[in-house]
Amino acid sequence: MATAQRDLYEVLGVKKTATQDEIKKAYRKLARKYHPDANPNDPKAEERFKEISTAYETLSDPEKRRQYDAGPTRFFGQGSGGFDPRSFQGGQGFGDFADLFGNLFGGAFGRRREAQPEKGRDVTVSVTLSFEDALKGVTTKISVPKTAQCSTCGGSGAAPGTAPKTCPVCQGRGVTTQNQGFFALSQPCPRCGGNGTVVEHPCPTCGGQGVTQVRKKDAAPLPAGVKDGTKIRLKGKGEAGLRGGPPGDLYVVTRVEDSPVFERRGNDLVIDVPVTFAEAALGATVAVPTPDGKVALKIPAGVQDGRMLRIAGHGAPRLGEAGKGDLMARIRVVTPSRLTAEERALLEKFQKIHRENPREGLPGWSTA
Ligand SMILES: [Zn+2]
Ligand SMILES: [Zn+2]
Repeated sequence: MATAQRDLYEVLGVKKTATQDEIKKAYRKLARKYHPDANPNDPKAEERFKEISTAYETLSDPEKRRQYDAGPTRFFGQGSGGFDPRSFQGGQGFGDFADLFGNLFGGAFGRRREAQPEKGRDVTVSVTLSFEDALKGVTTKISVPKTAQCSTCGGSGAAPGTAPKTCPVCQGRGVTTQNQGFFALSQPCPRCGGNGTVVEHPCPTCGGQGVTQVRKKDAAPLPAGVKDGTKIRLKGKGEAGLRGGPPGDLYVVTRVEDSPVFERRGNDLVIDVPVTFAEAALGATVAVPTPDGKVALKIPAGVQDGRMLRIAGHGAPRLGEAGKGDLMARIRVVTPSRLTAEERALLEKFQKIHRENPREGLPGWSTA
């Protein structure tokens, strides 16, 4: 992180003269775009999200905004580089210092200042399905133990007819600040745990937690083409949010049973095709089972054992895409094991006139 503090207005993309409303709108738009949940694999987005939140925390508060406008010297960059304690001499007490600190870093104590809505936790379950269902797609019922918002108190944790009170220890700030020599040390409030509110008369149903444990059956639509170990996200089907926050997500990990017919290789399927050695030598057409019914496969004359023949478009559906993988027909040449006298005579005759020696020319098999 650069030591230079980016202009907070610039971060939100608004003018210095922007109204509170414009600032709020700009923040919402950016926060949605860069929210870590929307960009799970992008650390830069998270960085940006923090930057936006930090800017908004200052600019959305008229008093803090006034301070920020008044003197940029009082602010310093994120990270260790830009910190200049001299900026804080005169005027500002250490309480304010801690305040600024909290805002600038948007960290644990910055966020929990007030009883903010909190997103519910994500839940992960695994589901076993048959090979066929994995190919076709299936809607299954999943019973998930979940924390749900308490219906008696609506999630506030307070008994009906009462309301949570502002925490008397931290006055609703969610943090307690102690002066420790030069630094002011901020910690989550031990009384309210950082919520900023306390419940004096707990709800009898949930005991003041605001949430209850329920087992809910959810319909989980699993798309065609899931594999063993595929993780599917069902948005909003996880645990209930706290204080009106959005619910978490449900992740379903699919376990797919083996098939006695097909072997799965990504989006391709493999099937063994047994052929007689005469079919292998002369060529043949064989009706091969596929997930979509039988398909005629032309086996070329002289095919060798183990050869893979591609039957295009008869594999597994591509998850989340159009089209299917291929079915690979693996040739298995079966040697005759119970010969009749006539067959034996014919084979002996064949052997006498047959010119090919499969060992000829192989390294280590020299006949000299
Ligand atoms: Zn309750
Ligand atoms: Zn408190």
